[in-house]
Amino acid sequence: MKVLVINCGSSSLKFQLIDSDSEAVICKGLCERIGIDGSQIVYTPAGKDKITKVTPMPDHNRAIELVIEALTNSENGVVSLDEIGAVGHRIVHGGEKFTKSVVIDEEVIKAIEDVSDLAPLHNPANLIGIRACQKAMPKVPMVAVFDTAFHQTMPEEAYLYGLPYSYYEKYGIRRYGFHGTSHSYVSKRAAEILGKDAKDLKLIVCHLGNGASISAVDGGKCIDTSMGLTPLEGLIMGTRSGDIDPSVVEFIMKKENSTVADVTNLLNKKSGVFGLSDELSSDFRDLQKGYEEGHAGAKRAVDAFVYRVVKYIGAYTAALGRVDAICFTAGVGENSGFVRNLICKRLSFLGATVDEEANKAHGEDKVFSGADSKVKLLIVPTNEELAIARDTVALCK
Ligand code: AMP
Repeated sequence: MKVLVINCGSSSLKFQLIDSDSEAVICKGLCERIGIDGSQIVYTPAGKDKITKVTPMPDHNRAIELVIEALTNSENGVVSLDEIGAVGHRIVHGGEKFTKSVVIDEEVIKAIEDVSDLAPLHNPANLIGIRACQKAMPKVPMVAVFDTAFHQTMPEEAYLYGLPYSYYEKYGIRRYGFHGTSHSYVSKRAAEILGKDAKDLKLIVCHLGNGASISAVDGGKCIDTSMGLTPLEGLIMGTRSGDIDPSVVEFIMKKENSTVADVTNLLNKKSGVFGLSDELSSDFRDLQKGYEEGHAGAKRAVDAFVYRVVKYIGAYTAALGRVDAICFTAGVGENSGFVRNLICKRLSFLGATVDEEANKAHGEDKVFSGADSKVKLLIVPTNEELAIARDTVALCK
């Protein structure tokens, strides 16, 4: 079956067409600046050059039409429309309602709408993507795959905040966690790489990208994760602050005479390693260069990032009671031997040692712990689109 995977944002739409038998990507691309001047679709059919088409895209319906046109046109298309057997949609927030992926019907759409106040920027955009696909492909089954679903196995002690309990009951304020599709995919893949049954493993998964989160996975089930009600909590990220004292918000508002919205924007867009490095960069390639050249801000930002990851690994080791393997994934985790090395050097309390040669790998499955290491260290490239395609096929067969 050919599965179209859609990841719809408020002004962008990423897509991949995946052959579920071979799991090969047939075409992937991106619609940018939907509803804004200068919109374009950029896509790459497998084995061909990138194609860019600058064209008006007043809304997501037009974006989906252009995706279908790109996939099916006679010149460089890759399928006919009736070959697309199913569509998988990435949905950011499933609240407590969705513990796994589901086939989309009107009831599911209503339930996604109902939890939209937990992800006001993302869920409405995801729903627009679903509606646009339903309009363009009315007979094709569609599946919703939630970023939060994998984390729904967390026990109450891990997901509750120390707030009046009524706020959880009334408003659903709790830890939900994100990047769940990635944490799930990586933990399963780690078990395969280690040749073990996932049920017998205690893993820590470090998803270190521009957004970053970490999870503790016990016997294949998530027992804790660092992102919270929103993706702002936890690790220091590219531009997000991660954990701070909540009183910082009011403090900054008073000092800067700013609004809640201003500070929320600051915490999401101007903080993290970007803010700590005096705005040198949010990209770890630039930060590594700065670090090696003695840039004080780069060193400060990388050290704080690394320290926070190590601190969470320590906390999750305590939560798990034992750790068999620590997995590194996403842009930084997969590609930066520099950052992995800085983190793992601080894990001697776990008996971790690094095989320096193996740690030079990037973007491929690799065990990079030393032969004498008491905990396995793994690079596991994530593949959220493939995980979405797999769930979609499993539910649509
Ligand atoms: P992601 O959000 O998973 O796409 O990760 C994006 C981030 O990965 C970028 O902002 C970089 O910080 C980081 N990254 C990508 N490639 C490399 C690399 N070769 N070395 C270090 N960091 C990288």
